[in-house]
Amino acid sequence: MDNLIEAQLFINNKVWFSAKIWTGIDMVSQLVPSSSNETFDLYAPYSGKLIAKVAEASVDDVDSAVAAAETAFPAWSALSPIERGKPLKKLAEMVLARKDELANLEALSMGKPVGDYFDAGYAGVQFNYFGEAAYAQGNTSLNTPGFLNMSLRQPFGVVAIIIPWNAPLVFFSKKVGPAIAAGNTVVLKSSEKAPLTSWKVSQWITECGFPPGVINILSGHGHISGSAMASHMRIRALSFTGSTRTGRAIQIASAQSNLKKVVFELGGKGPALIFEDADLEEAAKGTEHSINGQSGQTCMANSRVYVQESVKERFIEAFKKFASSRRIGDPTDPIVNHGPQADKVQYDTVLRYIAIGKETGNLLLGGGSNEPARNNYAGAKGNLTVHPVIFTDQPEDSRVVKEEIFGPVVVINVFKTEEEVIAKANDTEFGLYASLWTKDLERALRVSKKLESGMVGVNCASPTGSWDLPFGGYKGSGTGRESLLESMEHYLEHKSIYFKVSGIGGI
Ligand code: NAD
Repeated sequence: MDNLIEAQLFINNKVWFSAKIWTGIDMVSQLVPSSSNETFDLYAPYSGKLIAKVAEASVDDVDSAVAAAETAFPAWSALSPIERGKPLKKLAEMVLARKDELANLEALSMGKPVGDYFDAGYAGVQFNYFGEAAYAQGNTSLNTPGFLNMSLRQPFGVVAIIIPWNAPLVFFSKKVGPAIAAGNTVVLKSSEKAPLTSWKVSQWITECGFPPGVINILSGHGHISGSAMASHMRIRALSFTGSTRTGRAIQIASAQSNLKKVVFELGGKGPALIFEDADLEEAAKGTEHSINGQSGQTCMANSRVYVQESVKERFIEAFKKFASSRRIGDPTDPIVNHGPQADKVQYDTVLRYIAIGKETGNLLLGGGSNEPARNNYAGAKGNLTVHPVIFTDQPEDSRVVKEEIFGPVVVINVFKTEEEVIAKANDTEFGLYASLWTKDLERALRVSKKLESGMVGVNCASPTGSWDLPFGGYKGSGTGRESLLESMEHYLEHKSIYFKVSGIGGI
């Protein structure tokens, strides 16, 4: 229990704090003030050690956070964009200066290797950009004779933000930045699997100069505080990144409460199409990194790879070489590039899919055949590592082809023609990120156009992207498009004002 972290809620620029309470019999340690005083235990997936006691936000805590955000909204939204930007830019500085500490917290809580930690740099860009981006406004029009018409873009008020565990600070920054730059106030809930970086950032909010209530940060489980946020009558917009299943529950909660605006970034089952004229070494390197980076816990990962029959052996050999040379181990060791799955639930899910895939197709690497599927698995809580797994020859309707596994498990199947592979790539309820590899420019454009996917990498694979182009998915992968240029739109209402001015005439 040495160095056990106590991660608290942050509401109205106040934290819960530890206090000794007299029970009438004894002095006991308690966290106050809170409505529930509940906490949950957080274990490190690699070491299996208890690392934190985390506050479990109750429904009453959600109400308190919404009330604080509501109170803060009028003054915050009345500030000029420059004034709203100042604390955001300070937060960018803080996050960048403390990136090693943040990386270590994530490595401990959800197993992301510190050597792969790009999240703080990403957050720095978001906070800096949105610290200056709030000047965009509406239009004016003289097209209606006798009127000077105008449109205004105004903040919603209180916005809820619910984030997943696989890159917490990325989602925190890409949502909180534009939401508050636009003049909203926010209530954010971190994931129960990775609450520590959001909690750490909450300790810097007051110092950065954010007024009380502008950013409120909760931790806890989705079925308690998350669902309370989704059905809250005074939250007017909600931005969510997470699974398609949870997105659906939030959509229903929104419909059954106040029809709050919802923005979704959801799951994926990305295809990569490898044509016979591709640079096979590059294609194998890119697609292997896409699926096995972050131990396969990436929404955009190309978990389905389709290779043209004539180059099948060469491609698979190259892919296997890269997958077999991952540096597997302790995520706090900078040399390691393959850590554990985030927790026991994720680990068990991945093992279940490996067992299913063994039944339905051919297992080429990992999964207990010629490579171990697990690394020193020592019990319920620790060392939850899965070595890269390659399946081949899986039926297109098998579960490992159709469902998001969220682990280092790739299915490599074969195709003969362009039409055939486009049909297979599109035969999914997801549509987040597809990639294709060819030297034929016309084919690249033709196939890119036909793929039902929000993002397409040509001769590159996820996570390749760009700051200024929309990030988001087709179909069950989401409804939103986030980027430096697009994100602010999610957090602004549009209002048309028809301003009658006698004697003004037409243009
Ligand atoms: P999840 O849906 O289980 O949880 C996400 C968040 O929702 C957590 O904070 C959780 O507590 C909360 N939640 C759970 N139930 C809820 C409910 N009923 N109401 C409100 N909130 C609730 O997802 P996860 O396991 O944290 O993340 C992995 C998933 O996220 C994968 O499907 C992955 O593809 C997806 N993801 C998508 C993107 C993207 O940008 N499209 C990025 C990262 C992850």
